[in-house]
Amino acid sequence: FRIVLAEPFDRTGVEKLRTVGDIVALEACDESTLRRAVLDCDALLVRTRTTVTRAVIESATRLRVIGRGGVGLENIDVDAARERGIAVVYTPHASTDAVADLTVGMMIALQRNISGCDAMVRKGHFWEARGGSCSREMSELTLGIVGMGRIGRAVARRCRNGFGMTVLYNDIVSPGWLDFVATPVTKDQLYAHADVVTLHVPLTDSTRYLIDAAALSGFKKEAILINTSRGGVVNSLALADALTAGTLAGAALDVFDPEPLPADHPLMRAPNTLFTPHIGSRSVAGLARMN
Ligand code: NAD
Repeated sequence: FRIVLAEPFDRTGVEKLRTVGDIVALEACDESTLRRAVLDCDALLVRTRTTVTRAVIESATRLRVIGRGGVGLENIDVDAARERGIAVVYTPHASTDAVADLTVGMMIALQRNISGCDAMVRKGHFWEARGGSCSREMSELTLGIVGMGRIGRAVARRCRNGFGMTVLYNDIVSPGWLDFVATPVTKDQLYAHADVVTLHVPLTDSTRYLIDAAALSGFKKEAILINTSRGGVVNSLALADALTAGTLAGAALDVFDPEPLPADHPLMRAPNTLFTPHIGSRSVAGLARMN
């Protein structure tokens, strides 16, 4: 059994794999490298950076399974795999808590302008930073969750039960019974009432650019947007425009479109932003579960 690792996995995971087959660890994960590597392999393991295209899948002669360490499957041509009877497996529960923690951290950091205050303190503007700082408490805010799946629910639970926030949500399917108080609303109602809008949908044809100029025009002026889902869910040029025009108070992003964002992208100059480099799932426990 020959297993190709397109990206690094930690030692514990790799040792388990060694008990069932030979490991081939690739130095690169571009399409031509992958096409050569899958020629004679039984299993292909990827994470976030590898794209498994139809051409890669069709180059394989005996591939039986593609494993994805992570949640989103938009980097794998699942239809092409299905047509050839190749199983695609992933780790949907591994990073739920890690992403929910980061989302809550971003919410508070943006609401209290923690990184802006930090920069001013370091520049010697201690008292100006203090005088200019006065924000609302979490319990006063309404949270709007788009996508009440695993991560959406974990964020809602923390924010409702931990901070006493009012929680609204929108999903295309009913999440069933929830162990916290939350109200289902339409997307337009959510945008109109939420002080914090947080996105937890997968990137699909129906969610690409879900948050565009039209959606943003329905947000409250004092609202903040948090995106720890996928960069393509938000039209980043429309977001930069809304922040620059002051029709949106701030945005915290862990994911970008494109990723990474070029240095001259308008979002890089937009005010009241907080960026992290796609670290949502990168907790010790989360990565261990993923591995
Ligand atoms: P999930 O499948 O449990 O939940 C997604 C929810 O979105 C589902 O309830 C689904 O019905 C809903 N949904 C789909 N389309 C929708 C639409 N158009 N409008 C409203 N709701 C819609 O997935 P999850 O585990 O909660 O993860 C969500 C996403 O988070 C993943 O798909 C992945 O892209 C992203 N993610 C990011 C990181 C990171 O490192 N930042 C880590 C893990 C996951």
